[in-house]
Amino acid sequence: MEMAKVIVDVPSKDTDRPFDYLVPASLRPWIEVGSRVGVPFGHRTLQGFVVSLHPRPEMDTSKMKPIQEVLDVLPPLSRELVQLGEWMKERYACRQITALQSMLPTALKGKAERYISLPERSDTPDETEGLFSLQPESEEEERILGFVGQRGEVTIQQLSRAFPDQADVIKTLLARGMLSEHQQIKDKLQKKTMKAVELAVEKAAAEAALGDFPAKAQRQREVLSYLLEIEPLLPISQKELLQTLGVTAGTVKALADKGLIAIKDVEVFRDPYRGRHFKPSEPLVLTEEQQRVYDKIVHKLDERQHGVFLLHGVTGSGKTEIYLQTIQRCLQQERQAIVLVPEISLTPQMVERFKARFGDRVAVMHSRLSDGERYDEWRKIREGRASVVVGARSAVFAPFDRLGLIIMDEEHETSYKQEETPKYHARDVAIHRAALSGAAVILGSATPSLESYHAARSQAQDDFAPVLLEMHSRALGNRLPEVRVVDMREQLREGNRSMFSIPLHEAIAARLERGEQTVLLLNRRGYSTFVMCRSCGYVAGCPECDISLTYHQKSNNLRCHYCGYAAPSPDVCPDCGSEHIRYFGTGTQRVEEELAKLFPGIRVIRMDVDTTTEKGSHEKLLQQFRDKKADVLLGTQMVAKGLDFPDVTLVGVITADSALNLPDFRAAEKTFQLLTQVAGRAGRHQLPGEVVIQSYTPEHYSIIHASGHDYLSFVKDELKHRKALHYPPYCRLILVTLSHEQLPLLVRTAENYAAMVKKEADRRGWFGSLDRFAADALDILGPVASPIPRLKNRYRFQCMIKWRGTMDAVSLTRDAAEQLQESVRDSGLAISIDVDPQMLM
Ligand code: ADP
Ligand code: ZN
Ligand code: ZN
Repeated sequence: MEMAKVIVDVPSKDTDRPFDYLVPASLRPWIEVGSRVGVPFGHRTLQGFVVSLHPRPEMDTSKMKPIQEVLDVLPPLSRELVQLGEWMKERYACRQITALQSMLPTALKGKAERYISLPERSDTPDETEGLFSLQPESEEEERILGFVGQRGEVTIQQLSRAFPDQADVIKTLLARGMLSEHQQIKDKLQKKTMKAVELAVEKAAAEAALGDFPAKAQRQREVLSYLLEIEPLLPISQKELLQTLGVTAGTVKALADKGLIAIKDVEVFRDPYRGRHFKPSEPLVLTEEQQRVYDKIVHKLDERQHGVFLLHGVTGSGKTEIYLQTIQRCLQQERQAIVLVPEISLTPQMVERFKARFGDRVAVMHSRLSDGERYDEWRKIREGRASVVVGARSAVFAPFDRLGLIIMDEEHETSYKQEETPKYHARDVAIHRAALSGAAVILGSATPSLESYHAARSQAQDDFAPVLLEMHSRALGNRLPEVRVVDMREQLREGNRSMFSIPLHEAIAARLERGEQTVLLLNRRGYSTFVMCRSCGYVAGCPECDISLTYHQKSNNLRCHYCGYAAPSPDVCPDCGSEHIRYFGTGTQRVEEELAKLFPGIRVIRMDVDTTTEKGSHEKLLQQFRDKKADVLLGTQMVAKGLDFPDVTLVGVITADSALNLPDFRAAEKTFQLLTQVAGRAGRHQLPGEVVIQSYTPEHYSIIHASGHDYLSFVKDELKHRKALHYPPYCRLILVTLSHEQLPLLVRTAENYAAMVKKEADRRGWFGSLDRFAADALDILGPVASPIPRLKNRYRFQCMIKWRGTMDAVSLTRDAAEQLQESVRDSGLAISIDVDPQMLM
């Protein structure tokens, strides 16, 4: 008998270590590192994950209990993911089980009965891909497939009883996509059907018929040739066909009446992209700039070594084509690829580009999938039916076993940080996962995060520092749009109190006249939270921290969320004496009303959290805009990302400063990124683009450099500030939030906590001002009330730890938190640790 170490599914301090269990001989062939098992624990049976296997130890094992059951045939986690979980535990100060659970789809967290069946036919990979053989390769394989095929569905217990010695064969069949493992999930039972269209005659006959159409049946011709173009010849959704070609149902019916095509009801699968067809796309001939970048990455891929690249390319420089072609290389090596994109830009447009190149080998994962859909996509990956996944943050845990490449598009996006426990950053996880499997990483952006850019440029002496690759020109040769910055203070001086400046007003009017389209961005984040002078642009800031003070309406005062500084809200501007000083607020709805007033009859699509809560609404609105059903697309950040519309020639930013004044040291960086992104939406095709940015502080370097498309100058200026005030990338942060129902106890405890950290850091010789330029340095700010001072009836206080060096600041922080919790012995006290926080408000 062997022994297994198991992490059990109870996220508490006392259970946060592996427990030893015996592996019964009958279960041995089914158990691997990463297997999910049922184990006795006290008087209960718990679920757990096997994290290592060992020969039977010398010591007395009579007290050791055996593993009771194995829950899946293919272990849901690989050895590599188990190792990644160990790393996450240390890096993010979370429980190991929490890290492991976060890698799995929700559907797998319950304990449902699991079944094995033959995969649905259309689930299997295209045989022409040559990756896997879909024919049984031995008599055993044939017998097992026959057994399952006959019964339709068998449980794991039935299968392991019938073929006790064939665990490996069964696992291989699963990994080759010839068997499928699944469990019943509610939404699987709700079958839906749709009208679908397919050719009713042989390809040759249809091609012959194409020539015989009379001139007035041009539309029918189009439909028929479209159906002929689609490979493989499968039914396609009628609705989609009508939308794509702009034809009527009558046209399709006419073809059906001629007997050339058939219309029928087919089942709609949960894969939201299934039944949708994508015109296959071929690799483009790379530009010189792209080729240079491609060669560097491919060199690393061919070495099969870990390597990280930071691909800094202006908007439209053709980064996506680089992604596509490096993935292709990776697939040729029979390895797999993960593409991470921010949730918000995971639009059908984006997915389409990958589906068009790689077809059914692409799995898609985003948060709008139902549990069942998500589980299906996950199985597709685990069972080898997909070799590329395009997804948001958590797709970094896709269960591939031959990972060759991880791509992170828009690597600067804050949504890559998970705000719930485990509070991981997908960028760091990606780099570490790639290191474990000898994979390459491409971090792509037009505006890389300062952390990544700084690490790449300073050539830090570690393996994880990225190699910088740059692309300066647009792939299609067109120029970046002209950007005009309008000083809103001047507009006010000239008597224009509208939220539209005269230049923006004129530019919109011109677009309406020419039938071109406009994108308007209103950055709502941060509205109503800061106080600004409309005459001179003055914004109240903290004298200590150089970030904006936040307005608190109740007490009518201003506070700093980092250090706790407070001041009364001014009635007149301390800089220019104007009375036009107030907290700032506006919303998309108000902008829409104003547009209607200024341009009677204007057609506006509003896109914000209110209009996009429904599933699919985001896509629907974009499609309407693409179909030119509106003149203006008005929205929040959502409109800035990755959209590509040929007729958009004007981008307007209502108030550039709103994000600039958030109480966040990254405010300037985020503003620069947003302005650069949104400016990149204009003039991406033939028509030249124009950008109008309205600002109350046009002299701010983030606005000047964004208008000049000048990332390097921005970085230079921004790094100066970061260095002077000791912010990342010159140090790292840990945010510790304590909460409790009773305020006095909380304040006392938080102060104790800060003192404990100070004392321990001091003992180790780390503590002191970061100014001393010590290699190892640690400072603690606070405690102060959190930006959200009370949540669900609990008061919240926070400490900010700034540190630098090779020390283990995370474990110091965590140990202190655990000690404190033990000494207080009040179960009401909660402490949360956020390593490298992104949300500071
Ligand atoms: P990015 O992701 O850097 O913003 P895209 O990949 O979206 O840029 O490319 C911008 C446009 O240029 C797209 O329309 C794309 O099809 C086109 N493009 C990219 N590379 C090439 C190339 N090598 N030849 C021709 N067109 C290209
Ligand atoms: Zn002023
Ligand atoms: Zn401050």
